[in-house]
Amino acid sequence: MLLPYLLLDIDGVLAPFPAADGSTPSTHIRHSVLPAGRNPDDPVPIWLNPTHGSLLAALLAGDLVAPVWCTSWRRDAATVVGPLLRLPEFPHLDLPRPQITTSHPSGYLWKRDHVEPWLGESAVVWVDDDFTDLDHAWASERTARGHPTLLIQPDPYIGLQRAHLVAVQEWASLQATAKGSLETEHQGQAGQSRL
Ligand SMILES: [Mg+2]
Repeated sequence: MLLPYLLLDIDGVLAPFPAADGSTPSTHIRHSVLPAGRNPDDPVPIWLNPTHGSLLAALLAGDLVAPVWCTSWRRDAATVVGPLLRLPEFPHLDLPRPQITTSHPSGYLWKRDHVEPWLGESAVVWVDDDFTDLDHAWASERTARGHPTLLIQPDPYIGLQRAHLVAVQEWASLQATAKGSLETEHQGQAGQSRL
């Protein structure tokens, strides 16, 4: 059975934006990391909540979703950030590096132009802090067409909360149940046609 995808952002989700005074949440630990190709003398700071690691790992252990990084950290999400949270390794979406000055150059999240063709008809729960109304309308319309789509949008200054992951879990459980009953129904129909 194909699992729904879980698309996961980092900035504004796992690493909330600093407050106006530059402070980061006390729940988060500051790390200094070297993304691929970065000058070793010029590391990048990132702050992460270790609790997110255990909560996400527990969610993923349920085998209800197929996780994929969907972040401008790209491959560094899997090689640099994931290990800091002790997450199991999972793939990343190879997003391009568009020359844009806003994350909504066409009124919706720029990543969607790449996510949509990649998704095809797959079900998806997508966690990102940067959706617009157009993205939410897209999700509703996609769901109505029979491709379940849930957008979860943390406050970028607070980041991911336990409740967001509970929502992922509940939605994914519902998808599994719906899919299970559909398959049973199909098997029933197939059985009847053989009679
Ligand atoms: Mg973000």
